[in-house]
Amino acid sequence: MSQGKMAACEVVVLGAGPYGLAAAAHLKKAGMNVRIFGRPMKFWAEKMPTGMLLRSPRIASNISDPIHRATLDRFEVSAGIQPRAPIPLETFVEYGRWFQRQLLPDLDHREIVSVKHTEEDFVISLEDGVLIRSKKVVVAAGIGPFQKVPSEFASLSPSQVSHCYQGCEIRNFSGKRVAVIGAGQSALESAALLHEAEASVEVLARIPALRWIGQHPWLHRMGPISSALYSTHDVGPAGISRLVAAPNIMRKIPLSLRDRIRTRAVRPAGSQWLPARLQNVKLSSGRFVTAAQANGHGVELTLDDGSRRLVDHVLLGTGYSVDITRYGFLSPELMKQLVLMDGYPKLSRGFCSSIEGLHFIGATAARTFGPLLYFVAGTEFTSKQLASYLVRKGSNR
Ligand SMILES: Cc1cc2nc3c(=O)[nH]c(=O)nc-3n(C[C@H](O)[C@H](O)[C@H](O)COP(=O)(O)OP(=O)(O)OC[C@H]3O[C@@H](n4cnc5c(N)ncnc54)[C@H](O)[C@@H]3O)c2cc1C
Repeated sequence: MSQGKMAACEVVVLGAGPYGLAAAAHLKKAGMNVRIFGRPMKFWAEKMPTGMLLRSPRIASNISDPIHRATLDRFEVSAGIQPRAPIPLETFVEYGRWFQRQLLPDLDHREIVSVKHTEEDFVISLEDGVLIRSKKVVVAAGIGPFQKVPSEFASLSPSQVSHCYQGCEIRNFSGKRVAVIGAGQSALESAALLHEAEASVEVLARIPALRWIGQHPWLHRMGPISSALYSTHDVGPAGISRLVAAPNIMRKIPLSLRDRIRTRAVRPAGSQWLPARLQNVKLSSGRFVTAAQANGHGVELTLDDGSRRLVDHVLLGTGYSVDITRYGFLSPELMKQLVLMDGYPKLSRGFCSSIEGLHFIGATAARTFGPLLYFVAGTEFTSKQLASYLVRKGSNR
């Protein structure tokens, strides 16, 4: 199809997770001609451990909508679900899909295979070969391609090693010996689920001692003092939590300090409901794997202290590291024009990248706007800022 005959729109939103859904809902409400692409809540539905509970509190787990009609509370009422805290994964997935049906019924389930930049606009190719032109593209593609796989495990086969990203079916490990690598929520919650499914589990964590969130509950019960120390988003420790809740202030802080705040706010830790569930799980902290080799009996792990473990499977809770060069849909020519900061796009106000009209939201914006953007709670700030920026831009033309 020639460019002139392609369907066209003002804004394409790539990805239908919490950030893409919130952004599209706000842009639509602002009167923009917006199209959103992708399977709704696919990452949450397919890439997280079955049985997982959300780490974020209920108040910080609403996907932002411009008229406050599609809240988690409203979804539960309409679906006849008893509100629970922490929120079960299935409830959150269904909530996101309900949000989409309420506010974005015309969402297009097709995935985007490529985004190219032309002199006037962007050309987007869909999985079935259809092309669309758009003046602006908002990339809300999440962290799926960014999983970290330490090199020690690179030679193992998929049956011997997997990343928490693969959304493993915990029941398949019943009766098996599993080493879980990592000290964050994914690793620790997967270990609890595996133990409950009667796997024999050991957690191997590099940090000297495991950390648990909410160890000082009294800090949250001091009325106005607590409110001064913690925002309702509950990202980061006392004081830092307040700063993190103000992404426009975060953006103005020098990068090296901003990086330190970001790393501190999201350092590996488990939710407060996990220690009890892990009571009978072997937790080895201050240890790391130096070699992993398959033999006829399973996978032999050698640790830094020279000790060995023989397991059937290694589950990597080793997290994610943003690197947008791994977004296969960004064309090589477009990639060349993008200015990066260690894998993150360099962004300015309105989530603008170095290419006019190309915007990044969610985790890829966290280096600029701070760690709130790793979480669902950041959808409120992001979608409001993005919509007001794009509307202003449109009216200035
Ligand atoms: C194990 C785990 C637990 C977590 N728990 C919490 C929690 O309790 N609370 C919280 O706030 N956050 C939590 N997070 C962080 C969570 O990932 C983010 O809050 C949230 O997913 C960000 O939303 P998003 O829309 O940016 O990304 P995603 O939810 O990943 O959505 C992006 C979507 O884009 C789609 N996509 C990608 N490429 C394309 C393409 N080319 N075309 C079309 N679609 C595409 C993907 O399939 C995906 O569905 C957790 C993360 C993990 C890994």
